Amino acid sequence: MEPTIVSGKEVSNKVKDDIALEVEQIKVNGGKVPHLAAILVGDDGASRTYVNAKVKACERVGFGSTLVKLDADISEADLLTEVQKLNNNPEIDGYIVQLPLPKHIDEQKVTEAIAPEKDVDGFHPVSLGKMLLDLPSFLPATPAGIVEMLRHYNIPTEGKHCVVIGRSHIVGSPMSVLMARNAYPGNCTVTITHSRTQNLKEITNQADILIVALGKPEFLTADMVKEGATVIDVGIHRIEDSSKKSGFRLLGDVKFDEVAPKCAFISPVPGGVGPMTIASLLKNTLLAVKLNG
Ligand code: NAP
Repeated sequence: MEPTIVSGKEVSNKVKDDIALEVEQIKVNGGKVPHLAAILVGDDGASRTYVNAKVKACERVGFGSTLVKLDADISEADLLTEVQKLNNNPEIDGYIVQLPLPKHIDEQKVTEAIAPEKDVDGFHPVSLGKMLLDLPSFLPATPAGIVEMLRHYNIPTEGKHCVVIGRSHIVGSPMSVLMARNAYPGNCTVTITHSRTQNLKEITNQADILIVALGKPEFLTADMVKEGATVIDVGIHRIEDSSKKSGFRLLGDVKFDEVAPKCAFISPVPGGVGPMTIASLLKNTLLAVKLNG
């Protein structure tokens, strides 16, 4: 079977085009141009790449953007002061603190210090609580991006069995909530799995939709997938590769070449979930202007 490739690159370009049109309209009407800020602590290569991509995406859709770069040895108290500055800055509609943070800083404390009305990553307890209650809020960017991809490709979800691998607070758990809610995409029967799950292969083989977010390169193999399934690969791994100009290549959590022939739909890495995460962040920033304006 030839699978349909779920191209996050394509869907995210469409989302960005729609946002750019809306921003043009805002400018014509003299409204507040959305402004996204990012705090980057330290000099981790992957984090720097993600943040730069976010700033570039802002430019592309006409948003204002601010990058706050801080040294890796900044104290937790000083970082919290920077967070407060962004909370109090009326020009900034939304901002993110790029994770992971250095080990001496409590990520949860920093996440909770972000003003919920500016929490465009959707990690604050208020945002997650509102999501559970189906109230308008910032959905966590990666799960929201996956929902957008399923919608774009009209992938049937109602009554389907969705298996999520991984229960992290930023991907697996919110993903399971969104797939179970009474909406499209949603209305799935959801099984959430994690490192203590027994007989994982037996469970994944029953999945109509498999969302793979455990953070292990090429973990999901063909024998774990049912014919005709939809597979969404959330994993991103930089594997050293001297033949590449960048010095690395990207792999997902799915062994794409052997899994793809069994699938009706499959998302690749790169060009799958990654670009959607940024598109969702932009959508959340536009929503922040609407909710708070
Ligand atoms: P995480 O916080 O490390 O969580 C991994 C989850 O997978 C945990 O719940 C863990 O279970 C579970 N797990 C680990 N080994 C397992 C196994 N053998 N079988 C079943 N479950 C297992 O990771 P994350 O932040 O959710 O990220 C997951 C992956 O997605 C990473 O590769 C990350 O780089 C990528 N990611 C991509 C994007 C994007 O924009 N595309 C965004 C975020 C993350 P326990 O809870 O029991 O430990």
